[in-house]
Amino acid sequence: MTTTQLQPMPTDWRRALAVVAHPDDLEYGCSAAVAAWTDQGREVAYVLATRGEAGIDTLEPEKCGPLREREQRASAAVVGVFEVEFLDHKDGVIEYGTALRRDIAAAIRRHRPELVITLNHRDTWGQVAWNTPDHVAVGRATLDAAGDAGNRWIFPELVEQGLQPWDGVRWVAVAGSSTPTHAVDATPGLERAVRSLLEHRTYIEALTDQDPQTYARGFLTQNTEATGERFGGRPAVAFELFSR
Ligand SMILES: [Zn+2]
Repeated sequence: MTTTQLQPMPTDWRRALAVVAHPDDLEYGCSAAVAAWTDQGREVAYVLATRGEAGIDTLEPEKCGPLREREQRASAAVVGVFEVEFLDHKDGVIEYGTALRRDIAAAIRRHRPELVITLNHRDTWGQVAWNTPDHVAVGRATLDAAGDAGNRWIFPELVEQGLQPWDGVRWVAVAGSSTPTHAVDATPGLERAVRSLLEHRTYIEALTDQDPQTYARGFLTQNTEATGERFGGRPAVAFELFSR
């Protein structure tokens, strides 16, 4: 059992871009950190590879996609994020490859962040909980695209579209990693994180028979408190931080 303490996340940055596969990926913890950051006057934007259209068994993708897009925009607004973009990859079958790297590199060039956030790119959530292929693909492609964004020769078509290289990404922080290194105090953002998760109401109601409030609060409290054991006892959101 490790008791290594997590380090505080860097604070010398102004703009962050979070890139994930699905609506709700950022609301299972990360949004508590986002709320604290936007409170401090930092700009945060979201990019989602899909609209999560394959995420609800009882709802056809054509209806599910637009609904989940609306839920995601409402959810982001709760934590002070008003720029939410969708890359239109296909939910469930996102392919890691140059098309995905190019789309994410383009988003990084548009937003010019110093900090990029993504979700667990590793095979598992720790031990035997297998990760999904979409998360692995988007997480890996985001780590790669942070470098691609700075090289004008890797995707020259982006320069032709007016997207100049951006070599200013200093860190990529991976949420949900089983080997975190850093953390953010979740206390100031926790209530809004609960509300932001609750905006995914259709998804949550299809997922669990529990009362949505009880479910959202229970999940986020339990997770941030568990992380807090490695962050001086304060509820926290953990990240695995990669420097560039
Ligand atoms: Zn997901």
